[in-house]
Amino acid sequence: MNSFDFHRPASVADAVALLQGHGGAKLLAGGQSLLPVLKLDLAQPTDLVSLAAVSALRDIRDGDPVILGALATHDAVASSAVVRQRIPALAKLAGGIGDPQVRNRGTIGGSVAHADPSADYPAAMLALGATIETDRRQIAADSYFTGFFTTALAADEVLTAVHFPVPQAAAYAKFASPASKYAIVGVFVAKTAGGVRVAVTGAGTHVFRVPALEAALSANFSAGAVTAGSVAPDDLRSDSEASAEYRAHLITVMARRAVEACG
Ligand SMILES: Cc1cc2nc3c(=O)[nH]c(=O)nc-3n(C[C@H](O)[C@H](O)[C@H](O)COP(=O)(O)OP(=O)(O)OC[C@H]3O[C@@H](n4cnc5c(N)ncnc54)[C@H](O)[C@@H]3O)c2cc1C
Repeated sequence: MNSFDFHRPASVADAVALLQGHGGAKLLAGGQSLLPVLKLDLAQPTDLVSLAAVSALRDIRDGDPVILGALATHDAVASSAVVRQRIPALAKLAGGIGDPQVRNRGTIGGSVAHADPSADYPAAMLALGATIETDRRQIAADSYFTGFFTTALAADEVLTAVHFPVPQAAAYAKFASPASKYAIVGVFVAKTAGGVRVAVTGAGTHVFRVPALEAALSANFSAGAVTAGSVAPDDLRSDSEASAEYRAHLITVMARRAVEACG
C-alpha cells in the first residue's frame, strides 16, 4: 500500500474542495471496499478524504421517499424503525449484506459509489426507482449504473443521499455466495403505482431490469407468471461460482421467491 495524506473535512463542501484540489484523492466512507482495494494495490490514491465527521450524512429521514444519508451503515438501515415500517424489503436486504463487521462499517453511499456488480443495494434502487442525490444534482437510478464498477458520478462528486419511493409491496430474494454473502444472483421485485419493476444484481456487468418479467407481472402478479427464460444466458456472467446458464435459472427462481414474499 502506498502512503497517502489523510483528511477529515467537516462538511460536504470541504470534501468536494479537497477532491478538486488533489487530483489523486479518493473519498473514504466505511472502508469495507476501498481498504481491500488499497491493500491489493489496485488503486494508489495520493489523499484519502474521510467523510466520518460529516455527521448529517448519517441521517435516515421518514416520508415518501424515505431518504437514506450516504453514511447510513448497513446495520443502521437494517435496524431503522422508519425503513422497517416503510420499506421492510430494504431493511431486510441491508441485514443480509456481508457479516456483522461489514454491516457495522459499510455505508449505503460507499456501496452505491463502488457499484460492485454483485452488490445488493443497486437491485433495490433500480426496482424502487430510487434517486441518487449528490453535492450538485439528482440522478435517477435508471441512468446511474453505467457498467462494470462504473457509475454516472464524476471523480470530484460526493454522493450525499439515496431517495427511495415507498412501494405498494416489495421483496428481495438473493442466492448468496456462501463465503462473502455477495449476490450470485439477487432479484428485487417492487409493485409501484406505475407498474411492477424487477431488477437483477450479481448476474451481469452491472445491475439491470427485466422488461419481459415486468410486463408479465404487471399483467398478473403471481409467481406463476414468472416463466423460465425471461433472461437469456448470453449476456450473463460466468465465473467460478456459477455459469451463465445457472445464473439465468437462478433469476427465474429468485424472481418467483421475491413475488411470493411480496404476499
Ligand atoms: C467480507 C465482505 C463481504 C461483503 N458482502 C457484501 C454483500 O453481501 N453485499 C453487498 O452489497 N456488499 C458486500 N460487501 C461490500 C460492502 O457493502 C461495502 O460496505 C460497500 O461496498 C462499500 O461501502 P463503504 O462505506 O465501506 O465504502 P468505502 O470502502 O469507504 O468506499 C468504496 C468506494 O466508494 C467511494 N465512496 C464512498 N463514499 C462515497 C460517497 N459518499 N460519495 C462518492 N463516493 C464515495 C470511495 O471513494 C470508494 O471508491 C462486502 C464487503 C466485504 C469486505
